[in-house]
Amino acid sequence: TPAVDEALLAGLNPQQREAVLHRGPALLIVAGAGSGKTSVLTRRIASLIQTREAWPSQILAITFTNKAAAEMRERVQQLVGGAADGMWISTFHSACVRILRRQAEAMGLKTAFTIYDAADSRALLKRIIKELEVDTLGLTVPSVAGKISKLKNELGDVDSYARGVNADDPADVAFLEVFRRYTDGLRRANALDFDDLIAETVHLFRAFPEVAALYQRRFRHVLVDEYQDTNHAQYALIRELTRPILPQHVPADTRTRVDATGGIPGASLTVVGDSDQSIYAFRGADIRNIVEFERDFPETRVILLEQNYRSTQNILDAANAVIANNFDRQEKKLFTTVGAGEKITGFTGYTAYDEAQFVADEIQALHEAGAAYKDMAVFVRVNSQTRALEDILIRSAIPYRIAGGTKFYERAEIKDAMAYLIQVANPADDLALRRIMNTPKRGIGPATEAALQAHADRIGTPLRETLRDAGQLGLGPKVTKAILDLGVILDEVEAMVPTSPPAEVLTELLVRTGYVEALRATRDPQDEVRAENVEELLSFTKEFTKRNPDGRLIDFLTEVALVAAADDIDDASGTVTLMTLHTAKGLEYDTVFLTGIEEELLPHRISAGEVGGIAEERRLFYVGITRAKKRLYLSLAMTRSQFGDTAVALPSRFLQEVPPELIDWRQSPGALELRATNLSGRRRDASADGRPGRRDGARRPTFSYSTSLPPGPSAAREKREWTSAVTNTVRDNGDLTLASGDRIRHADFGEGRVVAVTGQAPKAVAEVQFDTAGRKRLLIKIAPIEKL
Ligand code: ATP
Ligand code: MG
Repeated sequence: TPAVDEALLAGLNPQQREAVLHRGPALLIVAGAGSGKTSVLTRRIASLIQTREAWPSQILAITFTNKAAAEMRERVQQLVGGAADGMWISTFHSACVRILRRQAEAMGLKTAFTIYDAADSRALLKRIIKELEVDTLGLTVPSVAGKISKLKNELGDVDSYARGVNADDPADVAFLEVFRRYTDGLRRANALDFDDLIAETVHLFRAFPEVAALYQRRFRHVLVDEYQDTNHAQYALIRELTRPILPQHVPADTRTRVDATGGIPGASLTVVGDSDQSIYAFRGADIRNIVEFERDFPETRVILLEQNYRSTQNILDAANAVIANNFDRQEKKLFTTVGAGEKITGFTGYTAYDEAQFVADEIQALHEAGAAYKDMAVFVRVNSQTRALEDILIRSAIPYRIAGGTKFYERAEIKDAMAYLIQVANPADDLALRRIMNTPKRGIGPATEAALQAHADRIGTPLRETLRDAGQLGLGPKVTKAILDLGVILDEVEAMVPTSPPAEVLTELLVRTGYVEALRATRDPQDEVRAENVEELLSFTKEFTKRNPDGRLIDFLTEVALVAAADDIDDASGTVTLMTLHTAKGLEYDTVFLTGIEEELLPHRISAGEVGGIAEERRLFYVGITRAKKRLYLSLAMTRSQFGDTAVALPSRFLQEVPPELIDWRQSPGALELRATNLSGRRRDASADGRPGRRDGARRPTFSYSTSLPPGPSAAREKREWTSAVTNTVRDNGDLTLASGDRIRHADFGEGRVVAVTGQAPKAVAEVQFDTAGRKRLLIKIAPIEKL
């Protein structure tokens, strides 16, 4: 064993210790959530540096998000100091971008290639599908985008697809043509989409062994976190990186030790993962990568970790019980020594707003009791759930942020400004140019754009080159001048790029094109906000230069393109975080609210038709539960609106899998049933005991209702039982109508006055100012209310 400083091993259990100290070609650490996998990976890196077994530059650590990478870097820094600087700790995507930018020439790309995000890819596909008029064959943008992504994750390309295409199937033939044009379009634009980043790196390594050898020699230790979520392309990349180097690729002057054959052995590979947390099958993640690791990498040492250091026993028991319902998995026995802890709190709201109100009230109560906002997180299954939550959080004045919702960089004005930057960095990017051609308005309409495009196609150049030729196209004098002017601005700013920091480039573009001025000149108050957002982007570029004094425009664009959802999370910022379950992976919070635990949502309805879909949803639920350290809330609503429709929601089948004695229901689905049937009955008014403040969750009426239904042998029966349990409870007020000023009585909130009614029956919503319970929004049709 290497002589590792004991301080580095402090507090580790024997298995963790072994995982840090083991040396050999391949190490697999498999363990449940919260058992210290990521911590062990970090200490392992630190130990390699501290013992000088490896230079920092010889280490490549792959994490799932940029945030996780930053965190890991910081932790290694704490352990070994500034030595950590030269290490590559990054996501698959950013590692690949770094490699591709350096080796772009070999791939026939220019180093300033653009990285297309999902929206860019969709825009390109939309054009192609329209051009080919193949939407009639059932080729939609999402279906084609999904299929292409899947193919690329399997390392497929146009040629390989063409070999297997079904020539008798017009849709298949059409898909091939779309795929071909999409690939050509990217290439002409000097652009790569997200999936290309990985796949192209693999192709690069396979086509140019001497290039691969550069990286194989450089990285002597490759470590991968969340290995269960790697897809085939990522797996192939790891394989390429850790391959032994053949003698003919070893340079004569190498300082790396060669083996008996004159070659260099492959890098040592460490992967950690948990097959119970595999939640990216829909993106091609292949659980087999972890299951078959030992076969793929001989001489693998496998280490299991069994102690959980994150959660209380109650939370762990719930997680274990839930995941035990997945068959075909390896039994894991996780234990903790921190004690049982608090029970899980359950809550059922009438509506998503009701549920959100509960969440907000609890957050507020916990905060008043001393808990920090930043230690609380609210998880959702789909982004649309955040609307109700945001609404209520805003009203309750609770600071929050959304990780991975509508992101800053997805706003139209930011995309515009970025398109300007992209166009001067990569003039071949037609998509970027089309976006800004007439933004701000310069009188360049679709017909003019088409004329320019036709000219570009004729002479075989990017669109940008045609701007100079505007005079030859027989366009009107005004529009000709507008085009020429735009061309001049872009050319002149492009000339600044190599020597100017991004902030200067952006300022020049915004000022000379009149973009911000145009926003400021309108009377639309939204435009004012947009102008501010653009200013915000400008300050980002300045901040970027502060962090990277030598950073060029292309580095800034790379950084922006790779910002993953989880990057928006800023733990220090003192806000509650809202995020999807997918984003939550690997993170931990004292208090976790898992919302919308309903059929159709979790498990999500799209999973029902997929093989293994329910099992994957269950893993997602498991991931959510295991993020909680001390407190876990499970909540649901009885009705939920999606896409403008309000429908009855059923409690998720997964709720039944949590042992009932672990949940303390503040308001169970059953409690609602009692209340709904007993509406006219007297209810203890919230103010009756003289204590004000609806915030005290404990004062919510609690019924002694057992949520334990007999465990259903079949999913169908489970569902039937839940359905009948719940549908009985949905109240229907018929065509009760309310108007501003009406007084009502609510089963929970007591009396109040209607202040506004919006929407049409049956979806009409009343906003009610209650005498003691504050202001609430209620769906009139089903709320437990009577008109007074
Ligand atoms: P996940 O599967 O969710 O990614 P993980 O296995 O990567 O979890 P970590 O995030 O590394 O687990 O660790 C979970 C928590 O336990 C962290 O707060 C970590 O600091 C703590 N922890 C890990 N090992 C120990 C230990 N030996 N002693 C005390 N705390 C530990
Ligand atoms: Mg982890």
